[in-house]
Amino acid sequence: MAKKTVKDLRDLAGTHVFVRVDYNVPLEKGKITDDTRIRASLPTIRYLRDHGAEVIVCSHLGRPKGEVRPELSLRPVADRLAELLGEPVAFDGEAGPVRLLENLRFDPREEKNDPALAAELASLADVFVSDAFGTVHRAHASTVGVAHILPSAAGLLLAAELEAFARILENPEHPFVVVIGGAKVADKIGVIDRFTGLADAVLVGGAMAFTFLAARGVAVGASKHEDADGQEVARRAMADAGERGCELVLPSDVVIAERVEAGAPTQVVAADAIPDGWMGLDIGPETAAAYARRLEAARTIFWNGPMGVFELAAFAAGTLAVAHAAAESDAVSVVGGGDSVAAVNQAGVADRISHVSTGGGAALELVEGRTLPGVEALEEAAA
Ligand code: ADP
Ligand code: MG
Repeated sequence: MAKKTVKDLRDLAGTHVFVRVDYNVPLEKGKITDDTRIRASLPTIRYLRDHGAEVIVCSHLGRPKGEVRPELSLRPVADRLAELLGEPVAFDGEAGPVRLLENLRFDPREEKNDPALAAELASLADVFVSDAFGTVHRAHASTVGVAHILPSAAGLLLAAELEAFARILENPEHPFVVVIGGAKVADKIGVIDRFTGLADAVLVGGAMAFTFLAARGVAVGASKHEDADGQEVARRAMADAGERGCELVLPSDVVIAERVEAGAPTQVVAADAIPDGWMGLDIGPETAAAYARRLEAARTIFWNGPMGVFELAAFAAGTLAVAHAAAESDAVSVVGGGDSVAAVNQAGVADRISHVSTGGGAALELVEGRTLPGVEALEEAAA
């Protein structure tokens, strides 16, 4: 069922709208190092302002665990928001037609979904708009509590996220090719399981590829891989894929080194020929080219998880090749996951991906088919 969005709200002029956004931005010494999430909130705030509403914006930042931590203040975000919006932004207790509240998680009641806090927040406004895709998998006072008190709707970012995922999860066009990588099979098994049921091929990279290889009895040297339990999960995923007619593809070659370090000598070897003491840190060039060819022929693409330790240039080629291939493909492409999105930005191709998700954990839970409490709580659109 589709949720009501801001576009379904009538008579906004003169109303007060409480907007939950995700301003959990990276900060270094009080400076915002990436303002993507602030930019992503602008369409909804502008829409509401253009329709004459006053907005009270709120978010969490970091993990202050219910205590006031000045270094996690949203003050710098208020300043950047004002710049991007081209309109003054009142902060915390200050008054103004656009107001950003202080970090919600300074209050221990936020993460407990305390009804008293929800009531306080709700008393500030006439309508609740949820635009915090990155936080809708959490049932907190500002994501769920308020939605049970005020009339509610999804913001434009949340609506776009839900639509993008619905497009690949419900009736995707084939060939549907999924690339999955990153740290652990155990973290991503729900995602792998969903996609072996939907996609034509799941291409595996990252550290988890070595868990899959080890599960097939291949010696992986000193490569990061999971223990017997993780390998059992990988083995089951391969068996399920086989039964469902989905091709689960592992790397044929890998880039190896003895240390995870810039400048460490590297070699390219067959995936089943990793010498003792060496570790696989990226997919090799043959694998990268094979994955790229499949992505270019796809009609639908989902990608989560880097193909190697892309933070170091020596082990970034596989991840960058996947990013470029996804961008060049005519497929509907969706990328989700904190590190994968960073890789897409690093490759400079974000504008050629159909949808770059702003939610890491929320995106993965959505793919797994779990209910997102912050979405569930919102009102349905009129049929
Ligand atoms: P995402 O945030 O996109 O969901 P993950 O958090 O699962 O991705 O995984 C990203 C991390 O996995 C990166 O920090 C990367 O360095 C690491 N990684 C990828 N491949 C390897 C590998 N072969 N060995 C060790 N770490 C790896
Ligand atoms: Mg990550």
